[in-house]
Amino acid sequence: MINLKKVCVFCGTKTGNTPIYEETARKLGLLLAQNQLELVYGAGGTGVMKAVAEGTKMGGGRVTGITIQHLFDIERPDLMKSNMDELKVYQRMFARKVAMTEVSDAFCVLPGGLGTMDEMFELMVLKQLGIMNKPIIVLNINDFFSDLKALLHQLIRDGFVKPHHAETITFVSHVEDVIPTIRAELEKIACQTEQTL
Ligand code: AMP
Repeated sequence: MINLKKVCVFCGTKTGNTPIYEETARKLGLLLAQNQLELVYGAGGTGVMKAVAEGTKMGGGRVTGITIQHLFDIERPDLMKSNMDELKVYQRMFARKVAMTEVSDAFCVLPGGLGTMDEMFELMVLKQLGIMNKPIIVLNINDFFSDLKALLHQLIRDGFVKPHHAETITFVSHVEDVIPTIRAELEKIACQTEQTL
């Protein structure tokens, strides 16, 4: 039986240089709400992060923001007060990441900068090491993540990553595919777990 309640979205504090990123984030946020799924995110009041939370609230969904004290002036969670149902504030970056990873049932990565990439790679490594086994969906809109796909192929080709470890993430091209893909991945993980019992 799949248990999907909270989806963590990792994405940029900036908007990027095309409106597609914000528009897609807003749509994803709305889709989460329409599917009765709670959004967990980094509590940002700027960029793509802001758009995803706005989308969820627009759809009447629940939003939990997780941040650290140091980021209050930079990522402006205060701007999102009316868009967050809960704000968790930690002192250290690693504690924030652990909290986001533990409370969420699945993850979706949207375009972003170094912080987004760091979060995505950390999740991939946790999965590769068998420490965490939750779906990680990468939304490849506007070909944003196509070079990442190419990099993964190169890492496999040159013998640094086992082919099946490339499957730690699942790429989708359309925002409408994110939630169905999360559900399909959860089913797959449940079947694999059953087979190993
Ligand atoms: P960015 O993609 O750089 O715009 O950042 C997106 C989110 O990632 C923001 O909430 C950042 O606080 C967060 N972030 C930045 N650096 C790190 C890091 N080293 N580890 C975890 N999260 C980070």
